[in-house]
Amino acid sequence: MSDSEGVERYIRLGRETTARRKEQRLEIRKARFDTIAVHGMYSVEEAFAQGQGGIIEPLFPSTSQAYRDSDEMEAGLSYKIPTWCYSRIHNPTIYFLEETLSLLEAYGCEFDASAFCTSSGMAAIKQAVEPLLALSGAPGEEVNFVSSAQVYGGTFQLFNVRMKERGATVRWVAKPWENGAWEELVDKNTRFLYTEMPSNPQQACSDLQALAGLAHKFQIPLIVDSTIATPALMRPLQHGADIVVHSLTKTIGSGGAAIGGAVIARLGMTSRHLADEARADYATWLKFWPARDSGPCMSPHSAFFFLNEVRTLRIKIDWFSKNTLEVAEFLARHPKVEKVDYLGLKAHPLHGLAARYMVMVDSDRPVFGHLLSFTVKGDAQDARRFFDGLQRIFRATDLGRIKSVATIPAISTHQQQGDEGRRLAGIPPTMVRLCVGGEHSADIIKDLDQALNKT
Ligand SMILES: *Cc1c(COP(=O)(O)O)cnc(C)c1O
Repeated sequence: MSDSEGVERYIRLGRETTARRKEQRLEIRKARFDTIAVHGMYSVEEAFAQGQGGIIEPLFPSTSQAYRDSDEMEAGLSYKIPTWCYSRIHNPTIYFLEETLSLLEAYGCEFDASAFCTSSGMAAIKQAVEPLLALSGAPGEEVNFVSSAQVYGGTFQLFNVRMKERGATVRWVAKPWENGAWEELVDKNTRFLYTEMPSNPQQACSDLQALAGLAHKFQIPLIVDSTIATPALMRPLQHGADIVVHSLTKTIGSGGAAIGGAVIARLGMTSRHLADEARADYATWLKFWPARDSGPCMSPHSAFFFLNEVRTLRIKIDWFSKNTLEVAEFLARHPKVEKVDYLGLKAHPLHGLAARYMVMVDSDRPVFGHLLSFTVKGDAQDARRFFDGLQRIFRATDLGRIKSVATIPAISTHQQQGDEGRRLAGIPPTMVRLCVGGEHSADIIKDLDQALNKT
Protein backbone atom coordinates (compact mmCIF):
# COMPACT_ATOMS: atom_id res chain seq x y z
CA MET A 1 0.00 0.00 0.00
CA SER A 2 1.51 3.35 -0.97
CA ASP A 3 1.20 6.28 1.38
CA SER A 4 -1.62 8.73 0.86
CA GLU A 5 -0.86 12.25 -0.27
CA GLY A 6 -1.37 13.56 3.27
CA VAL A 7 1.08 11.07 4.75
CA GLU A 8 3.55 11.89 1.95
CA ARG A 9 3.43 15.55 2.91
CA TYR A 10 4.45 14.74 6.50
CA ILE A 11 7.20 12.46 5.24
CA ARG A 12 8.57 15.34 3.14
CA LEU A 13 8.51 17.65 6.17
CA GLY A 14 10.14 14.91 8.23
CA ARG A 15 12.96 14.66 5.69
CA GLU A 16 13.60 18.36 6.13
CA THR A 17 13.86 17.92 9.91
CA THR A 18 16.22 14.96 9.46
CA ALA A 19 18.38 16.94 7.03
CA ARG A 20 18.50 19.93 9.40
CA ARG A 21 19.53 17.72 12.31
CA LYS A 22 22.18 16.01 10.21
CA GLU A 23 23.64 19.36 9.27
CA GLN A 24 23.57 20.50 12.92
CA ARG A 25 25.28 17.31 13.97
CA LEU A 26 28.04 17.76 11.37
CA GLU A 27 28.50 21.31 12.60
CA ILE A 28 28.75 20.46 16.31
CA ARG A 29 31.08 17.52 15.53
CA LYS A 30 33.63 20.14 14.47
CA ALA A 31 33.63 21.60 18.01
CA ARG A 32 35.92 20.57 20.86
CA PHE A 33 34.89 18.12 23.59
CA ASP A 34 33.88 20.69 26.22
CA THR A 35 31.78 22.64 23.75
CA ILE A 36 29.94 19.49 22.72
CA ALA A 37 29.40 18.53 26.37
CA VAL A 38 27.95 21.97 27.13
CA HIS A 39 25.78 22.41 24.03
CA GLY A 40 25.18 19.06 22.32
CA MET A 41 22.50 19.49 19.67
CA TYR A 42 20.72 22.27 21.52
CA SER A 43 21.78 25.24 19.41
CA VAL A 44 20.45 28.81 19.49
CA GLU A 45 18.23 27.95 16.49
CA GLU A 46 16.98 24.85 18.28
CA ALA A 47 16.09 26.91 21.36
CA PHE A 48 13.76 29.03 19.25
CA ALA A 49 12.47 26.04 17.31
CA GLN A 50 11.44 24.58 20.70
CA GLY A 51 9.27 27.65 21.26
CA GLN A 52 10.44 29.81 24.16
CA GLY A 53 14.15 30.29 23.57
CA GLY A 54 15.15 28.66 26.85
CA ILE A 55 18.94 28.42 27.15
CA ILE A 56 18.90 24.80 28.34
CA GLU A 57 17.13 21.81 26.86
CA PRO A 58 13.51 21.76 28.06
CA LEU A 59 12.24 18.98 30.28
CA PHE A 60 9.34 17.23 28.53
CA PRO A 61 7.62 15.13 31.15
CA SER A 62 4.70 14.47 28.82
CA THR A 63 3.85 10.80 28.39
CA SER A 64 2.89 11.20 24.78
CA GLN A 65 2.99 13.27 21.63
CA ALA A 66 -0.12 14.61 19.95
CA TYR A 67 -0.43 14.50 16.16
CA ARG A 68 -2.04 17.16 14.01
CA ASP A 69 -4.19 14.68 12.08
CA SER A 70 -4.49 11.02 11.12
CA ASP A 71 -1.90 11.38 8.37
CA GLU A 72 0.75 12.63 10.75
CA MET A 73 -0.18 9.90 13.23
CA GLU A 74 0.22 7.24 10.56
CA ALA A 75 3.58 8.66 9.46
CA GLY A 76 4.71 8.88 13.09
CA LEU A 77 3.68 5.46 14.28
CA SER A 78 5.31 3.82 11.28
CA TYR A 79 8.53 5.74 12.09
CA LYS A 80 8.51 7.40 8.69
CA ILE A 81 9.09 10.80 10.26
CA PRO A 82 11.22 11.83 13.27
CA THR A 83 8.81 11.25 16.13
CA TRP A 84 8.72 10.25 19.74
CA CYS A 85 5.10 8.98 19.99
CA TYR A 86 5.08 7.89 23.59
CA SER A 87 7.75 8.25 26.28
CA ARG A 88 8.29 4.49 26.53
CA ILE A 89 9.55 4.70 22.96
CA HIS A 90 11.27 8.06 22.88
CA ASN A 91 11.08 11.58 24.30
CA PRO A 92 12.51 14.99 23.30
CA THR A 93 14.55 15.51 26.49
CA ILE A 94 16.05 12.05 26.09
CA TYR A 95 16.79 12.87 22.46
CA PHE A 96 19.11 15.71 23.55
CA LEU A 97 20.91 13.49 26.05
CA GLU A 98 21.36 10.70 23.50
CA GLU A 99 22.77 13.14 20.99
CA THR A 100 25.29 14.57 23.47
CA LEU A 101 26.44 11.16 24.70
CA SER A 102 26.90 9.76 21.21
CA LEU A 103 28.74 12.91 20.11
CA LEU A 104 31.13 12.56 23.04
CA GLU A 105 31.79 8.83 22.50
CA ALA A 106 32.39 9.37 18.78
CA TYR A 107 34.57 12.43 19.43
CA GLY A 108 37.63 12.29 17.20
CA CYS A 109 36.31 9.32 15.18
CA GLU A 110 35.88 9.41 11.42
CA PHE A 111 32.59 7.57 11.75
CA ASP A 112 29.59 8.62 13.83
CA ALA A 113 27.61 6.82 16.55
CA SER A 114 24.16 6.84 18.11
CA ALA A 115 22.91 6.31 21.64
CA PHE A 116 19.97 4.74 23.42
CA CYS A 117 19.35 5.79 27.03
CA THR A 118 17.88 3.32 29.49
CA SER A 119 16.43 3.21 32.98
CA SER A 120 19.70 1.90 34.48
CA GLY A 121 23.15 0.69 33.58
CA MET A 122 22.02 -2.92 33.94
CA ALA A 123 19.13 -2.28 31.54
CA ALA A 124 21.65 -0.87 29.04
CA ILE A 125 23.83 -3.99 29.28
CA LYS A 126 20.86 -6.33 29.00
CA GLN A 127 19.44 -4.45 26.02
CA ALA A 128 22.82 -4.32 24.30
CA VAL A 129 23.54 -8.06 24.55
CA GLU A 130 20.13 -9.69 24.19
CA PRO A 131 19.57 -9.33 20.44
CA LEU A 132 23.09 -10.63 19.84
CA LEU A 133 22.21 -13.87 21.63
CA ALA A 134 19.05 -14.66 19.66
CA LEU A 135 18.88 -18.27 18.47
CA SER A 136 19.17 -18.70 14.74
CA GLY A 137 17.26 -21.99 14.84
CA ALA A 138 20.19 -24.09 13.57
CA PRO A 139 20.04 -27.62 15.04
CA GLY A 140 22.35 -28.21 18.03
CA GLU A 141 23.33 -24.57 18.11
CA GLU A 142 25.42 -23.57 21.12
CA VAL A 143 25.38 -19.87 21.76
CA ASN A 144 28.26 -18.45 23.76
CA PHE A 145 29.95 -15.13 24.46
CA VAL A 146 33.32 -14.33 25.97
CA SER A 147 33.57 -11.86 28.81
CA SER A 148 36.11 -10.56 31.24
CA ALA A 149 35.39 -12.10 34.68
CA GLN A 150 36.36 -8.78 36.24
CA VAL A 151 33.07 -7.04 35.70
CA TYR A 152 30.54 -5.24 37.87
CA GLY A 153 28.71 -7.65 40.22
CA GLY A 154 25.36 -7.10 38.49
CA THR A 155 26.89 -7.83 35.11
CA PHE A 156 28.44 -11.00 36.50
CA GLN A 157 25.01 -12.19 37.64
CA LEU A 158 23.31 -11.16 34.39
CA PHE A 159 25.80 -13.17 32.37
CA ASN A 160 26.25 -16.10 34.73
CA VAL A 161 22.63 -16.63 35.78
CA ARG A 162 20.14 -14.79 33.59
CA MET A 163 21.81 -15.44 30.26
CA LYS A 164 22.43 -19.05 31.21
CA GLU A 165 18.70 -19.41 31.93
CA ARG A 166 18.15 -18.40 28.34
CA GLY A 167 20.60 -20.92 26.94
CA ALA A 168 23.60 -18.68 26.30
CA THR A 169 26.88 -19.62 27.95
CA VAL A 170 29.36 -17.09 29.18
CA ARG A 171 33.03 -18.01 28.91
CA TRP A 172 34.99 -16.08 31.52
CA VAL A 173 38.41 -14.59 31.00
CA ALA A 174 40.08 -14.31 34.41
CA LYS A 175 42.92 -12.06 33.22
CA PRO A 176 41.34 -9.79 30.63
CA TRP A 177 44.64 -8.02 29.90
CA GLU A 178 46.06 -11.23 28.39
CA ASN A 179 45.06 -11.30 24.73
CA GLY A 180 45.83 -15.01 24.40
CA ALA A 181 43.21 -15.89 27.03
CA TRP A 182 40.50 -14.37 24.81
CA GLU A 183 41.77 -16.07 21.66
CA GLU A 184 41.55 -19.47 23.33
CA LEU A 185 37.86 -19.06 24.14
CA VAL A 186 36.41 -17.60 20.94
CA ASP A 187 34.88 -19.97 18.42
CA LYS A 188 32.34 -19.96 15.61
CA ASN A 189 29.44 -19.88 18.09
CA THR A 190 30.69 -16.79 19.91
CA ARG A 191 28.35 -13.84 19.55
CA PHE A 192 30.38 -11.03 21.12
CA LEU A 193 33.32 -10.10 23.35
CA TYR A 194 32.64 -8.07 26.48
CA THR A 195 34.99 -6.20 28.74
CA GLU A 196 34.81 -3.53 31.41
CA MET A 197 37.60 -0.96 31.58
CA PRO A 198 38.70 -0.03 34.11
CA SER A 199 36.72 -2.67 35.97
CA ASN A 200 34.85 -2.12 39.18
CA PRO A 201 36.44 -2.64 41.67
CA GLN A 202 39.80 -4.16 40.60
CA GLN A 203 40.48 -1.82 37.68
CA ALA A 204 41.29 -4.59 35.26
CA CYS A 205 42.12 -3.34 31.77
CA SER A 206 42.15 -4.89 28.35
CA ASP A 207 44.06 -4.17 25.20
CA LEU A 208 41.02 -2.81 23.38
CA GLN A 209 42.67 -2.63 19.97
CA ALA A 210 43.73 -6.28 20.15
CA LEU A 211 40.27 -7.38 21.34
CA ALA A 212 38.55 -5.41 18.57
CA GLY A 213 40.87 -7.09 16.06
CA LEU A 214 40.00 -10.52 17.45
CA ALA A 215 36.27 -9.80 17.49
CA HIS A 216 36.28 -8.52 13.93
CA LYS A 217 38.21 -11.56 12.71
CA PHE A 218 35.13 -13.54 13.80
CA GLN A 219 32.79 -10.79 12.54
CA ILE A 220 31.39 -10.20 16.01
CA PRO A 221 31.26 -6.99 18.06
CA LEU A 222 33.38 -5.87 20.98
CA ILE A 223 31.34 -4.33 23.80
CA VAL A 224 33.05 -2.17 26.44
CA ASP A 225 31.60 -0.95 29.72
CA SER A 226 33.41 2.32 30.17
CA THR A 227 31.36 3.68 33.08
CA ILE A 228 34.37 4.56 35.23
CA ALA A 229 36.51 6.12 32.50
CA THR A 230 33.76 8.17 30.82
CA PRO A 231 34.42 9.66 27.37
CA ALA A 232 36.53 12.36 29.02
CA LEU A 233 39.28 9.75 29.52
CA MET A 234 38.60 6.94 27.07
CA ARG A 235 36.50 6.53 23.97
CA PRO A 236 36.51 2.81 23.13
CA LEU A 237 34.89 3.30 19.70
CA GLN A 238 38.07 5.07 18.62
CA HIS A 239 40.03 1.91 19.44
CA GLY A 240 37.79 -0.39 17.44
CA ALA A 241 35.00 -1.25 19.90
CA ASP A 242 31.51 -1.49 18.38
CA ILE A 243 29.38 -0.77 21.43
CA VAL A 244 30.00 1.20 24.62
CA VAL A 245 27.73 0.80 27.64
CA HIS A 246 27.51 3.15 30.58
CA SER A 247 25.90 3.26 33.94
CA LEU A 248 25.10 6.97 33.81
CA THR A 249 24.19 6.57 37.47
CA LYS A 250 27.88 6.61 38.33
CA THR A 251 30.61 8.95 37.20
CA ILE A 252 28.65 10.73 34.47
CA GLY A 253 25.81 11.42 36.92
CA SER A 254 28.18 12.12 39.82
CA GLY A 255 25.64 14.32 41.65
CA GLY A 256 23.80 11.13 42.57
CA ALA A 257 20.19 12.06 41.89
CA ALA A 258 19.19 9.58 39.17
CA ILE A 259 19.64 6.02 37.92
CA GLY A 260 20.27 5.62 34.21
CA GLY A 261 22.25 3.89 31.51
CA ALA A 262 23.23 4.21 27.87
CA VAL A 263 24.10 2.01 24.92
CA ILE A 264 26.24 3.83 22.38
CA ALA A 265 27.05 2.03 19.14
CA ARG A 266 29.05 3.05 16.14
CA LEU A 267 27.05 3.30 12.94
CA GLY A 268 27.74 0.27 10.78
CA MET A 269 28.95 -1.98 13.59
CA THR A 270 30.25 -5.50 13.07
CA SER A 271 28.01 -8.49 13.77
CA ARG A 272 27.30 -11.37 11.44
CA HIS A 273 24.31 -12.29 13.63
CA LEU A 274 22.28 -9.10 13.25
CA ALA A 275 20.16 -7.99 10.32
CA ASP A 276 21.68 -5.20 8.21
CA GLU A 277 19.08 -2.75 9.48
CA ALA A 278 20.12 -3.40 13.10
CA ARG A 279 23.85 -3.20 12.38
CA ALA A 280 23.49 0.07 10.49
CA ASP A 281 22.30 2.01 13.55
CA TYR A 282 22.16 -0.41 16.45
CA ALA A 283 21.29 2.00 19.27
CA THR A 284 18.38 3.54 17.37
CA TRP A 285 17.19 0.11 16.27
CA LEU A 286 17.29 -1.12 19.89
CA LYS A 287 15.28 1.88 21.03
CA PHE A 288 12.59 1.74 18.35
CA TRP A 289 12.14 -2.05 18.16
CA PRO A 290 13.20 -4.44 20.94
CA ALA A 291 13.09 -1.87 23.77
CA ARG A 292 9.66 -0.65 22.73
CA ASP A 293 8.41 -4.14 23.54
CA SER A 294 10.07 -4.41 26.94
CA GLY A 295 10.06 -0.84 28.27
CA PRO A 296 13.51 -0.22 29.81
CA CYS A 297 13.22 3.48 28.98
CA MET A 298 14.84 6.33 30.88
CA SER A 299 12.65 8.88 32.59
CA PRO A 300 12.77 12.38 31.03
CA HIS A 301 13.44 13.83 34.49
CA SER A 302 16.56 11.70 34.74
CA ALA A 303 17.65 12.74 31.25
CA PHE A 304 17.30 16.38 32.27
CA PHE A 305 19.51 15.74 35.29
CA PHE A 306 22.17 13.87 33.27
CA LEU A 307 22.26 16.60 30.61
CA ASN A 308 23.22 19.11 33.26
CA GLU A 309 25.83 16.76 34.74
CA VAL A 310 27.53 15.99 31.46
CA ARG A 311 28.28 19.63 30.68
CA THR A 312 31.05 19.74 33.30
CA LEU A 313 32.25 16.16 32.78
CA ARG A 314 35.85 16.81 31.75
CA ILE A 315 36.66 19.28 34.49
CA LYS A 316 35.12 17.03 37.17
CA ILE A 317 37.01 13.94 35.99
CA ASP A 318 40.25 15.89 36.02
CA TRP A 319 39.66 17.11 39.58
CA PHE A 320 38.47 13.74 40.93
CA SER A 321 41.45 12.01 39.30
CA LYS A 322 43.95 14.42 40.80
CA ASN A 323 42.42 13.87 44.26
CA THR A 324 42.45 10.10 43.77
CA LEU A 325 46.13 10.02 42.89
CA GLU A 326 46.94 11.95 46.07
CA VAL A 327 44.80 9.60 48.18
CA ALA A 328 46.35 6.52 46.51
CA GLU A 329 49.86 7.78 47.22
CA PHE A 330 48.91 8.36 50.86
CA LEU A 331 47.40 4.87 51.22
CA ALA A 332 50.41 3.23 49.55
CA ARG A 333 52.62 4.66 52.32
CA HIS A 334 50.26 3.79 55.22
CA PRO A 335 51.46 1.00 57.57
CA LYS A 336 47.91 -0.38 58.06
CA VAL A 337 47.40 -0.89 54.33
CA GLU A 338 48.43 -4.14 52.68
CA LYS A 339 48.12 -3.16 49.05
CA VAL A 340 46.68 -0.33 46.94
CA ASP A 341 45.32 -0.84 43.48
CA TYR A 342 45.16 2.35 41.48
CA LEU A 343 46.00 2.48 37.82
CA GLY A 344 47.62 5.87 38.32
CA LEU A 345 50.36 4.40 40.55
CA LYS A 346 53.42 3.42 38.53
CA ALA A 347 53.67 0.24 40.61
CA HIS A 348 50.32 -1.01 39.29
CA PRO A 349 51.02 -3.83 36.82
CA LEU A 350 48.49 -2.43 34.35
CA HIS A 351 49.68 1.18 34.61
CA GLY A 352 51.32 1.05 31.18
CA LEU A 353 48.34 -0.56 29.44
CA ALA A 354 45.93 1.89 31.08
CA ALA A 355 48.13 4.85 30.09
CA ARG A 356 47.77 3.83 26.43
CA TYR A 357 43.99 4.12 26.58
CA MET A 358 43.11 6.50 29.41
CA VAL A 359 44.18 9.93 28.26
CA MET A 360 42.52 13.21 29.19
CA VAL A 361 40.61 14.33 26.13
CA ASP A 362 42.22 17.09 24.06
CA SER A 363 45.57 16.48 25.76
CA ASP A 364 48.26 13.79 25.79
CA ARG A 365 48.15 13.40 29.57
CA PRO A 366 47.37 9.91 30.94
CA VAL A 367 44.72 10.30 33.67
CA PHE A 368 43.30 7.37 35.59
CA GLY A 369 39.91 8.26 37.03
CA HIS A 370 38.60 8.17 40.58
CA LEU A 371 38.22 4.53 41.49
CA LEU A 372 40.73 2.73 43.62
CA SER A 373 40.73 -0.26 45.90
CA PHE A 374 42.96 -1.32 48.72
CA THR A 375 43.25 -4.13 51.20
CA VAL A 376 43.47 -3.46 54.89
CA LYS A 377 46.13 -5.40 56.83
CA GLY A 378 44.70 -8.17 58.97
CA ASP A 379 41.40 -9.98 58.48
CA ALA A 380 37.81 -9.23 57.48
CA GLN A 381 37.13 -7.81 60.97
CA ASP A 382 39.97 -5.27 60.62
CA ALA A 383 38.52 -4.15 57.30
CA ARG A 384 35.14 -3.69 59.00
CA ARG A 385 36.65 -1.74 61.91
CA PHE A 386 38.33 0.63 59.46
CA PHE A 387 35.12 0.92 57.46
CA ASP A 388 32.95 1.61 60.49
CA GLY A 389 35.42 4.28 61.63
CA LEU A 390 34.96 6.49 58.58
CA GLN A 391 33.43 9.84 59.49
CA ARG A 392 33.42 11.95 56.32
CA ILE A 393 33.43 9.29 53.63
CA PHE A 394 30.01 7.71 53.10
CA ARG A 395 29.57 3.96 53.45
CA ALA A 396 27.41 3.07 50.44
CA THR A 397 27.12 0.57 47.61
CA ASP A 398 27.80 3.32 45.19
CA LEU A 399 30.57 4.99 43.28
CA GLY A 400 31.26 7.72 40.81
CA ARG A 401 30.06 10.41 43.18
CA ILE A 402 31.15 13.96 43.79
CA LYS A 403 31.14 12.76 47.42
CA SER A 404 33.74 10.18 48.38
CA VAL A 405 32.10 6.81 48.90
CA ALA A 406 33.53 3.54 50.19
CA THR A 407 32.28 -0.02 50.24
CA ILE A 408 33.48 -3.52 51.14
CA PRO A 409 32.72 -5.41 47.91
CA ALA A 410 32.66 -8.89 49.53
CA ILE A 411 29.64 -7.93 51.66
CA SER A 412 27.93 -5.66 49.15
CA THR A 413 28.38 -5.46 45.37
CA HIS A 414 29.96 -8.91 45.09
CA GLN A 415 27.96 -10.63 47.83
CA GLN A 416 25.58 -12.44 45.47
CA GLN A 417 28.22 -14.33 43.55
CA GLY A 418 29.55 -16.41 46.49
CA ASP A 419 33.09 -17.37 47.51
CA GLU A 420 33.91 -19.07 44.23
CA GLY A 421 32.72 -16.17 42.11
CA ARG A 422 34.61 -13.72 44.30
CA ARG A 423 37.77 -15.78 44.05
CA LEU A 424 37.45 -15.80 40.25
CA ALA A 425 36.90 -12.05 40.28
CA GLY A 426 39.74 -11.48 42.77
CA ILE A 427 37.76 -9.97 45.66
CA PRO A 428 39.22 -10.74 49.12
CA PRO A 429 37.10 -9.93 52.21
CA THR A 430 39.62 -7.27 53.31
CA MET A 431 39.24 -5.26 50.11
CA VAL A 432 37.79 -1.77 50.33
CA ARG A 433 36.63 0.04 47.25
CA LEU A 434 37.00 3.78 47.45
CA CYS A 435 35.78 6.26 44.92
CA VAL A 436 37.23 9.68 45.61
CA GLY A 437 35.03 12.69 44.97
CA GLY A 438 35.38 16.42 44.77
CA GLU A 439 36.23 17.25 48.40
CA HIS A 440 39.72 18.55 49.09
CA SER A 441 42.05 15.55 49.17
CA ALA A 442 43.58 16.64 52.51
CA ASP A 443 40.21 16.15 54.23
CA ILE A 444 39.70 12.72 52.71
CA ILE A 445 43.22 11.68 53.70
CA LYS A 446 42.54 12.85 57.27
CA ASP A 447 39.39 10.72 57.48
CA LEU A 448 41.12 7.63 56.07
CA ASP A 449 44.04 8.04 58.46
CA GLN A 450 41.91 8.23 61.60
CA ALA A 451 39.82 5.23 60.50
CA LEU A 452 42.87 3.12 59.60
CA ASN A 453 44.36 3.83 62.99
CA LYS A 454 41.30 2.17 64.58
CA THR A 455 42.10 -1.26 63.10
C1 LIG B 1 26.89 0.38 38.61
C2 LIG B 1 27.49 -0.21 37.42
C3 LIG B 1 26.69 -0.84 36.45
C4 LIG B 1 25.20 -0.96 36.62
O1 LIG B 1 24.60 0.28 36.55
P1 LIG B 1 23.19 0.65 37.29
O2 LIG B 1 22.93 2.03 36.80
O3 LIG B 1 23.43 0.56 38.75
O4 LIG B 1 22.20 -0.34 36.81
C5 LIG B 1 27.31 -1.34 35.34
N1 LIG B 1 28.65 -1.25 35.16
C6 LIG B 1 29.45 -0.65 36.07
C7 LIG B 1 30.91 -0.57 35.80
C8 LIG B 1 28.89 -0.12 37.22
O5 LIG B 1 29.69 0.46 38.11
